[in-house]
Amino acid sequence: MNSSKDDKVSKMKQSEHRLLSVLMLLACVLAWVSPLMAATAAEQLRAADERYVDLLRDKKLRNDRANWLELVESYEKVRSKGPSAAAKADFKIGKVYEQLAGFSGREADNREAIKAYRRLAAENPRNSLADDALERAASIHESRLNEKQSAIRLYRQIIAEYPEGDQVKEARKALKELGAAEREPKAEKSETKESAKSKAKETKDKDAKDKSAVKDKGPSLEEAERQYLELLKNPALRKERANWLKLIATYDALKAEHPDQAIFKIGKLYEQLGGFSNQESDYREAVKNYRLLAETQPKSSLADDSLLRAGRIQELQLNDSEAARSCYQRIINNYPKGDMLPAARERLSLIKKAQLAEVKAEAKPAAAKPEVLKTEDRPAAVVKPETKPVEARAVRLEGANAKSDEASDLSPGQSARVKSVRAWNNGDYVRVTIELDSKVPFRTFVLPPNADAAKPFRLVIDLDKSSLASAGRAPGDAAGMVSKIRFSPQQGAKSRIVLDLKEEPSYTAFRLENPHRIVLDVRTLSQAARTPTIAAERPPVIAPAPAEAAVPVKPATKPSAANGKGFGRVKSGQPSRMPTDVPSIARQLSLKVSRIVIDPGHGGKDPGAISNGLREKDLTLAIAETLATRLRKEGYEVLLTRDRDETLALEERTAFANRKKADLFISLHLNANRDTKARGIESYFLNLTTDETAIEVAARENSTSTRSLGELQGIINDLMLNSKINESSRFATELHKGLLGSSRAVNYKGADRGVRQAPFYVLLGAQMPSVLLELGFITNEKDAELLQDPGYQKTLVEGIWRGVNAYINNTGYAFYGGSDS
Ligand SMILES: [Zn+2]
Repeated sequence: MNSSKDDKVSKMKQSEHRLLSVLMLLACVLAWVSPLMAATAAEQLRAADERYVDLLRDKKLRNDRANWLELVESYEKVRSKGPSAAAKADFKIGKVYEQLAGFSGREADNREAIKAYRRLAAENPRNSLADDALERAASIHESRLNEKQSAIRLYRQIIAEYPEGDQVKEARKALKELGAAEREPKAEKSETKESAKSKAKETKDKDAKDKSAVKDKGPSLEEAERQYLELLKNPALRKERANWLKLIATYDALKAEHPDQAIFKIGKLYEQLGGFSNQESDYREAVKNYRLLAETQPKSSLADDSLLRAGRIQELQLNDSEAARSCYQRIINNYPKGDMLPAARERLSLIKKAQLAEVKAEAKPAAAKPEVLKTEDRPAAVVKPETKPVEARAVRLEGANAKSDEASDLSPGQSARVKSVRAWNNGDYVRVTIELDSKVPFRTFVLPPNADAAKPFRLVIDLDKSSLASAGRAPGDAAGMVSKIRFSPQQGAKSRIVLDLKEEPSYTAFRLENPHRIVLDVRTLSQAARTPTIAAERPPVIAPAPAEAAVPVKPATKPSAANGKGFGRVKSGQPSRMPTDVPSIARQLSLKVSRIVIDPGHGGKDPGAISNGLREKDLTLAIAETLATRLRKEGYEVLLTRDRDETLALEERTAFANRKKADLFISLHLNANRDTKARGIESYFLNLTTDETAIEVAARENSTSTRSLGELQGIINDLMLNSKINESSRFATELHKGLLGSSRAVNYKGADRGVRQAPFYVLLGAQMPSVLLELGFITNEKDAELLQDPGYQKTLVEGIWRGVNAYINNTGYAFYGGSDS
């Protein structure tokens, strides 16, 4: 009895015990599992991000729609892991669909993107991505689906709900461009719907009142600008001369209040009208107004622009190169610090050249003017007219398949203007930049030589719906592999630019924004074949570097293999038997880093980040100069992309490094952040990324929006296959280590923000290991104080040169890349 009772008790106790242990186990498991679940969300996001980058990088993957949808699915799975994960996943889903739509052109894909972005904003309105998501959704409505009302609604939502957010500026701009008023953001911020409604009504009434008031007073400058854009956009309006004259009268009435802007615009209107009317009197009016502005408002920031425009019209439309000359000369004399100086110098030297040539009675090809479409090509001396368009025989040679498939910015009937064509040339490499006033699709191809017509290899760039009439003269005779850059007669709505080449080319083409540019990097095919591939970038470490290898010495002889047979350059006397992708030991030992190009970020018109009374452009220049001195002391040859406060385009900086055959390229910058507490050092190399922070930095440094950057990643990617990603990543790592080492040694407290990757235009196309350094945050008070201190600048410089030395020494061989490729 007792025993059975005891049994029962003990059984009960046992089961109690078992229950307890089960519960404890469960608790343990739960405690173990929940962080695991959280980790899984981050893990899954990262895995999906990696797939995303792979997809962007691999054309084959990209071309298969299933891969995109699978990627969406993997982000969908992350959505259930909590609100923060859901927001991140939704943003990526939106982006994936947005990019897919860019490739597929399907409306449904655009709709899916919008859906994901809006879901994010609806379900996680307090997430920091919410306003970005709304902005992207709005921009799809606006630019891809042509649904202006929907776009306007979303832009307004951003202003009303995220007045402190970073998308407000973009939203305001967009609304302005759409001709829509923004509602008072404050009125709607923290009020009930009803009062918001009544406020909205008030605003509406006020708007109506404002409008009638405007009618009495004549339009404001803003209204005039709007009409101006409308006129340019709308072919029906443009056709009527009366509309131009009416708008000119409108600006005329604004002269008293805004003298320089109004007069400049009148000049521009006449200039543009001249482009349509082809009437000399319109061009004369334009010149008159531009000169009036320069005369009466010499201090205006538009004065030098006016002189340049007046000069160009006189030179190119009115055939008065003497008058043009005086305009250009005035820019050089009176505005030596202005941004028109280089253009003025260039035009002046072209005029001089042309006049010399005239003296020699040489036949010159006419500047491009719309002419009848006939054949692709009309050299200065036409031998035989071609019977059939050369294009039929066009062949595509090596180089990027540079047919751009993005849509243009233009509405039907409108055409873009090529504003300039510039070239940087160094013999076996040339970079050509074509600047346009809007984005148009373009196509490039190579034509083989034609002995009959005495034509060489030609690289042809066709621009859709565009005109060369405002481009000035073609660069003409060039040195090195490009013998001539010229404009082909206008082919209907298409423009054609032709590069005459001495050799078969290899080339890549890419697009930049703000302003719209198409950039071509052209090399000789034999030269390109000698460029080591990425796989070859990390050759095995060979014998320990000889002591002398640490002291960089200029190569005794510059390679003479420029026209070689496609093999790696070797020390003279060595047989040139090495395959292209394995650098010879001789080569590894004989070539040392000698030339470093330092690029002080920003400059001139572009101040970079401004904060705490400092401008990025000033600090980067100061640090660059100190760095140059330091590196020169070490025996390096150092070149700066700029040594004063001047405006330089991003592509110009890389072109400079390529042209100078630099071995290393370092672009110096300072970071900025809305969060003024953010401080620390970041080092970047060029690559695709899905890291939002890195994208933000890249967008700022590229002076483009995060949106267009996202769209461009796929295109940029194709161009990076030849870039030295691995070497650059190693170079960035060494510089970063050096920077942290030296700054920590002086007790720097900012964060180590790591070595990161992002698509920086300034690094794009660089033919040597290249990095972009963000040396500190100008927006942080403590960083700002340090950054302007010459002592701390020296500390940073010390870190960079240590990094450079470490990069070279750790390689175990002298660097072979840059000047060879
Ligand atoms: Zn910068």
